[in-house]
Amino acid sequence: MRSKPSSPSKRRSATTLLERLGLSTPLDFVLHFPIRYEDQTSLQTISVATPGRHLQIEGEVVSSEVIYRPRKYLTAQFRDNTGTIQLRWLNFYPSQIQQMQAGKRWRVRGEIRAGYQGLEMVHPKVSSPSQPLPTSLTPVYPSTEGLAQRAIRQHIETALQTVDLSDTLPPAVVQAYGLLSFEQAVDILHRPKPGDDLVCLEDRTHPAWLRVKFDELLAQQLSLAYAREQRRERRAEPLLPPTDRISLADKLLAHLPFQLTGAQQRVVAEIHADLAQSYPMHRLLQGDVGSGKTVVAALAAMRAIDNGKQAAVMAPTEILAEQHFLKLEPWARALGLRCVWLSAGLRAPVKRKALAEIACGQAQLVVGTQALIQSGVEFHDLGLAIVDEQHRFGVSQRLSLGGKALGGLPHQLTMSATPIPRSLAMTFFGDLDVSVIDERPPGRLPVKTKLVSASRRTQVIEGLRDSVNKGGQVYWVCPLVEESEALQLQTAVDTHEMLRQALPGLTVGLVHGRMSAADKTEVMQRFKTGEISVLVATTVIEVGVDVPNASQMVIEHAERFGLAQLHQLRGRVGRGTRESVCVLMYEPPLSAEAKYRLKAMYETDDGFEIARRDLQLRGPGEFLGARQSGLSLLRFADFEADAHWVTRAKELAQRLRQEYPDIARRHINRWMQGREAYLNG
Ligand code: ADP
Ligand code: MG
Repeated sequence: MRSKPSSPSKRRSATTLLERLGLSTPLDFVLHFPIRYEDQTSLQTISVATPGRHLQIEGEVVSSEVIYRPRKYLTAQFRDNTGTIQLRWLNFYPSQIQQMQAGKRWRVRGEIRAGYQGLEMVHPKVSSPSQPLPTSLTPVYPSTEGLAQRAIRQHIETALQTVDLSDTLPPAVVQAYGLLSFEQAVDILHRPKPGDDLVCLEDRTHPAWLRVKFDELLAQQLSLAYAREQRRERRAEPLLPPTDRISLADKLLAHLPFQLTGAQQRVVAEIHADLAQSYPMHRLLQGDVGSGKTVVAALAAMRAIDNGKQAAVMAPTEILAEQHFLKLEPWARALGLRCVWLSAGLRAPVKRKALAEIACGQAQLVVGTQALIQSGVEFHDLGLAIVDEQHRFGVSQRLSLGGKALGGLPHQLTMSATPIPRSLAMTFFGDLDVSVIDERPPGRLPVKTKLVSASRRTQVIEGLRDSVNKGGQVYWVCPLVEESEALQLQTAVDTHEMLRQALPGLTVGLVHGRMSAADKTEVMQRFKTGEISVLVATTVIEVGVDVPNASQMVIEHAERFGLAQLHQLRGRVGRGTRESVCVLMYEPPLSAEAKYRLKAMYETDDGFEIARRDLQLRGPGEFLGARQSGLSLLRFADFEADAHWVTRAKELAQRLRQEYPDIARRHINRWMQGREAYLNG
């Protein structure tokens, strides 16, 4: 059973597995802490065995046999001076039959269970009784399929011997906050002694954990503070309102058929104040779906254009970017400004013309997809970059946004309809200033949400006819099919056909992600003009689509969607003055989590409340889409449970930066290892 030297390809795959866990540098291994511990430092006897207990016992095989029915397994009777148990293997090698010959002595370890023939251990760990017992508890590390604990342990042991574990914090600080030293903390977490408090270690309240969490929070606060400082040191041209004429922003306001809400006025003022500074704006504009962010973006753009500069609006999908264009272009035109569209799908001559206009500055407002940050796009003089739903862009795009693309670092405004609870925003977006539109345009009726079992599909379809007869329009959202895009597409096509047959006389349209941009636009346009009454759609309509006459939405298999997504979808209706309905069709039986989500949707349509519940359900990492977005998340500290430590870390970060910048740097380096670039994204 000795392991053979591993082949190069095997070794490579072990490295890949480790990387999947985020483990590449020695320091990564040092900071890879156990999820639990096993006590193998002592032996127990069979007399204390009770179901559920983990035991390590030494004894002798009395007898063993391979049983073939009802299925093949290996069983052995095993005894010590105090009693007998069964050992059992459902899969086994011939060598294990040898191992379990009567009379052999072994040390076995595992969980006791109640079996048919009394107490048993299934698949116990077997080792020689002559091996010395370990003197510290055995750590169990987070791992991944195919990666043995032993391999991780070996890497960690090596790392613990090579990495400099000396404290980054001055002794006075360590003492003042009542912390353990870093080295002590690391040692306890990886190699706790038999007397250490296992319960505290496993629920992460042990002082060793506190030290690690505090260090992590401090590193985060430090790097956020540095990012902010760096930004303030950069120069951006202040964009001031004109003094000798009416500003474009005021002209646009006069042109709009509505008045800004109080919240819109407030955030516009916040943005305009930022733009007047001599360092780049870095502001996040949050507003629930339908709260009216586009006009705020337009008013920000006007300020840039008023200063002879260009403004760009970028969105992650073609549909979303186009919705912006359809709104912004007429506004720009009304003021005599030139607004240009740019996407990857443009025909070559059209694209060439757009690029030329962007390069010479004739295009004052540019709207598009990520084509805007691709090479070949040169702005004449970009003053403001507006990015919608930034979290949906990939990491590299986010990085290039903060870096060289878009003409260095002009003022940046990011917009998001995914409201991030304030506490979370403070922790993770410390470098962003946040503006919130917390008020809806007047006259909107709340959307009525109904939960309907899929068994009542026929009635739901009949209901569509009513909606249309009353002059409204309908979205029918097809279910997510996680395992396959092709399947999802098929479902959409089938649903389209089914509804066409069920609703003769009504025009039923179809839009999905695989359609060409031009086809999508055409369908959306026909829906907008009212030619299409019922639009079957995949989740391509999730964000940004604005058809005020749409008054009903049906979401099939609503239980498969996440809360944020459901909320975004529902936001597509209730945009006009019509009373709107959102039907969440579900397929019973529902999991507890699905129930929680649907209940939340039924109970509230306040985006912030939904976000709060979503956060509760999923935790901050998943909530923010950590992995895709590359946000540097807290691995150990819990931003809510450890909130008081966040405050302390913030205070200390400020002091260290002022009084001990070297210490601050060293601390960041230990914890971030160059990853802080992501924090700017
Ligand atoms: P979102 O924040 O979801 O991007 P939009 O900017 O698309 O919202 O605005 C939703 C709809 O509300 C649009 O039709 C827009 O013209 C309209 N709207 C925006 N602000 C106001 C307002 N103050 N009063 C009335 N309607 C408004
Ligand atoms: Mg929008």
